[in-house]
Amino acid sequence: MSTQNQQAEFGTRAVHAGHRVDPQTGAHAVPIYATSTFGYFDAQRGARLFAGEEPGFFYSRVLNPTVRAFEEKVANLEGTEDAVAFASGMGAASAIALTFLKSGDEVAFVGPLYGGTEGLLNEVMTQFGVTIREAHDLDALRGLLSERTKLVWLETPMNPTLGIIDLQAASELAHSVGALMVVDNTFATPYLTRPTEHGVDIVMHSATKYLSGHGDVIAGVVATRAELTEPLRGHGLRHIGAALGPFEAYLLIRGVKTLPLRMEKHCQNAAALAEALQGHPAVKHLYYPGLSDHPGHAVAARQMNGKFGGLVSLDLGTQDNAFAFLNALKLFTQAVSLGDVESLSSHPASTTHQLLGEETLARQGITPGLVRLSVGIEDSADLIADVMQALGKI
Ligand SMILES: *Cc1c(COP(=O)(O)O)cnc(C)c1O
Repeated sequence: MSTQNQQAEFGTRAVHAGHRVDPQTGAHAVPIYATSTFGYFDAQRGARLFAGEEPGFFYSRVLNPTVRAFEEKVANLEGTEDAVAFASGMGAASAIALTFLKSGDEVAFVGPLYGGTEGLLNEVMTQFGVTIREAHDLDALRGLLSERTKLVWLETPMNPTLGIIDLQAASELAHSVGALMVVDNTFATPYLTRPTEHGVDIVMHSATKYLSGHGDVIAGVVATRAELTEPLRGHGLRHIGAALGPFEAYLLIRGVKTLPLRMEKHCQNAAALAEALQGHPAVKHLYYPGLSDHPGHAVAARQMNGKFGGLVSLDLGTQDNAFAFLNALKLFTQAVSLGDVESLSSHPASTTHQLLGEETLARQGITPGLVRLSVGIEDSADLIADVMQALGKI
């Protein structure tokens, strides 16, 4: 399927992929298969299921029908052969790291990554003899790669300063040393970016965010080719065990059906807010990839389907200004996470990124005045009015 068709049919596939009328009862919605185990009916079939000679369900840590419907939907939308769901985004990230790395291997990443992912790499994987190397752009990344590099890991847009990385260029670098390219696609979602169309090997998500969209689930998913999902399911679920529950999968299936509608509104609202904030005297710096002076604007325009996501960050100069602004907002709940239909606000330097320490924070532009807004799907005029009145309080 061409890239253009992938986009044109996206809305239809978001609704229909992974969905079938239940053959036993005719149930139209995917049922919540609340069962830990599955009868084999005869001993020979049990042996075949366990040997992998016959596909089928035998234990919900490894495969469950409701979870499978979610996996099929995500694989379809990402354009990959298969997908594996996990109990959280970090469950997905740790399955990738523990499946594809061994002692002596190296990982190179473009930082900052999500704090949990940096912790997994720098604090957990180093205990097992894996060396972690950090770059801040693709030029620096090139210098860190060697034949020992097995995974290259990045996020685009990055958090919280919304830097953009060219996925095609990054994949070519990773492949030049035989490494797998891993992209955390949580911020863009497959509606805006399908990383495997740009050469990426493994796509992961915190499905907690836009895929769910309603702030009521913790979940993760990895989408990639079948030769890689097989060991991911074997190690990540069978041996490590961060399995997604069927109730959460049901909520995710329901959420993903409206992903295109929600993303359109998130992107429209964020663009309108960024435009309204341009040149505002209280805003020292505005971070939004949709602005033509954003350094990643051209790459984002090409790589994100002509839209720029639902996050806007602004530097208000000082922590006092940032706190006064956050406390004055009425429609933006102060909380971590993002991608919910409700607008959320956060102060990265004192919360999610606090552990990085002052020097790293300064180097990465995570200043005391920086505020990150996850723009929801409320009416944009109300969101803009709320942000303007809050700016008036500083
Ligand atoms: C939230 C998040 C994660 C971690 O996901 P959980 O579902 O909270 O475990 C990983 N990557 C990114 C980019 C995130 O925003």
